[in-house]
Amino acid sequence: MIQLYIPLNFLGVIYREIKQSLTDLDKMFGLLSKEREVADTPQAQPLQVRGATVRFEDVVFSYERDRPILKGVSFEIPAGRKVAVVGPSGSGKSTLARLLYRFYDVDGGRITIDGQPVVQVTQQSLRRAIGIVPQDTVLFNDTIAYNIAYGRPEASQAEVEAAARAAHIHSFITSLPQGYQTMVGERGLKLSGGEKQRVAIARTLLKNPPILIFDEATSALDSRNERAIQAELEAAAENKTVLVIAHRLSTIVDAHEILVMEHGEIVERGTHAQLLAQQGRYAQMWSMQQDGQA
Ligand code: ADP
Ligand code: MG
Repeated sequence: MIQLYIPLNFLGVIYREIKQSLTDLDKMFGLLSKEREVADTPQAQPLQVRGATVRFEDVVFSYERDRPILKGVSFEIPAGRKVAVVGPSGSGKSTLARLLYRFYDVDGGRITIDGQPVVQVTQQSLRRAIGIVPQDTVLFNDTIAYNIAYGRPEASQAEVEAAARAAHIHSFITSLPQGYQTMVGERGLKLSGGEKQRVAIARTLLKNPPILIFDEATSALDSRNERAIQAELEAAAENKTVLVIAHRLSTIVDAHEILVMEHGEIVERGTHAQLLAQQGRYAQMWSMQQDGQA
């Protein structure tokens, strides 16, 4: 009996841990309707990151049958460069981020990193190579320290604190009676949108992966915090391959390419200067933000 009990119990622990990490990731992305269908192929190999060139090739995707969300999206982020995506809410910007992280598989076309289709590499290696600050961060039901170190659990306390400082959340954390051991998430301390976003930023800075996705990463911050943290994000993004979904256009004027999305399609693309010269949608958005209307 005892001999049997121990291995079964051990398996139970592993099973619970795997299940927990899956629900963690689902929560992190606020995944709703579509069932998880993503799985490693039997031949899946670890992703070999060289410069981390990201390519979307004619990507077609829908969450639900008969409701196309991406209608053939193609772009490249050359190794170490930054591509920005702008456009109205609902145009499919966050979906690009979710597909690169492979939360869903594309219905048509493909996504590659250094020539390797994301569907052919192990999910573990893919997710190790990518850091994401999602639009709405949902924290795990665990300590703040766990939430920051997620993605690099072997990090020292000093490294966790350095990341928290860079994300301007350290002094808030140390003001709490239990500091870094404070439980957060649904069953713990409720953090504001801006605090959660700063935890997600600290997590990504600590993970320090070759590919970064910022999905309106500072949208929940007040403008003073936003400016300060923007500088940290820019430093972290140096020489990395970056997909940035921007709500504030002033943060992306230096992008290698800016994509303007509308209804699941790229309707304009180019550098900031090229897009202004086109006097189209981007130029219109830019002048509205300059006037302080957005
Ligand atoms: P954006 O980031 O540009 O605001 P999203 O990529 O989040 O847009 O969403 C694009 C479209 O896909 C929207 O119409 C949204 O309602 C829909 N959508 C997003 N997530 C899901 C989902 N999990 N299930 C069904 N539809 C979704
Ligand atoms: Mg979005």
